[in-house]
Amino acid sequence: MKIREITQYLENIAPLSYQESYDNAGLLTGNPQDEVTGVLLALDCIEAVIAEAISKKCNLIIAHHPIIFGGLKKLTGRNYVERTVIKAIKNDIAIYAIHTNLDNVFNGVNAKIATKIGLENTKILLPKRNQLKKLTTFVPLPDSEKVLDAMMKAGAGNIGNYSNCSFSIMGEGTFQPNRKANPYIGASENLEKVQEMRVEVIFPAHLEGSVISAMKKAHPYEEVAHYIHLLENENQEVGSGMVGNLPASMPEIDFLAHIKANMEVSCIRHTSFLGKNVKKVAVCGGAGGFLLRHAISAGADFFITSDYKYHEFFDADRQIVIADIGHYESEQFTKNLLAEYLEKDFKTLKINISEVNTNPVNYF
Ligand SMILES: [Zn+2]
Repeated sequence: MKIREITQYLENIAPLSYQESYDNAGLLTGNPQDEVTGVLLALDCIEAVIAEAISKKCNLIIAHHPIIFGGLKKLTGRNYVERTVIKAIKNDIAIYAIHTNLDNVFNGVNAKIATKIGLENTKILLPKRNQLKKLTTFVPLPDSEKVLDAMMKAGAGNIGNYSNCSFSIMGEGTFQPNRKANPYIGASENLEKVQEMRVEVIFPAHLEGSVISAMKKAHPYEEVAHYIHLLENENQEVGSGMVGNLPASMPEIDFLAHIKANMEVSCIRHTSFLGKNVKKVAVCGGAGGFLLRHAISAGADFFITSDYKYHEFFDADRQIVIADIGHYESEQFTKNLLAEYLEKDFKTLKINISEVNTNPVNYF
């Protein structure tokens, strides 16, 4: 199996186009055509993780945080980033980063945290806009089912828990083929009037190529009239953070203990309790402070995230309890999430979860 097959699989789950503008997800070192000897899953790819990959005979490291983030102008080994990259290249190890694109998908980093905490009825806290497109095409009546089916199979027509979503309306299409044309209906230089279905489906923008080629393949016409529109709608499947409910509410102090036990953290920095039971909880792996007002307006009692600074804690303002559980701690189960995905579809692949504790923060 080639590295490319695994990275393509991961990019189906977390398309690169879903990463934030500042990010650098994707293949950072290595040749996508190389055969995979084994996969090592890590949160951070540092020198110790490269050493672990060498000892475990894995030539593909899949890490959440991209080791190359702000660009590299020199590779002389003067810092840990350069040394890690040099060590990877010298040992023919591919590094693949799956970062904010995995944060932003529904079944990504935050879903893993939500599952650990036991949240139900989860929703994306801040869905992204401009991620959906609409395709409109015109199909002769007898072929409309076939064309619609092909577009659905290519990934169109999914809205939340609903699949096969479309809208069709009957109308009359006209066309006049010239002499060079090879029309499916009618003859050269005759004006035709045909009963057609106007068919509309939505799809995630990154699937545009496959949806259009599926439509064209199934469509009987030589020239397929179609429109593509970018929708400003939110895509509820893509975005930052997650909010959900606990199966049963619990006192705030009990909920902190619940987080400690389930997220395996030794220390939680939190704002004052509000003196009420916790039912609704917002989560964001990594630095999630930018989501605070969304967590409050979603009605969350608690906001679990990390990387809070002193003054930012004041923003809780007795409207919510902020619980900073640490960046590493919040995302540590991302390795397990990736293992679950890969184990499901690559039965023969050697998958290792890194045993290196890459957390740069220690507690005394
Ligand atoms: Zn992170």
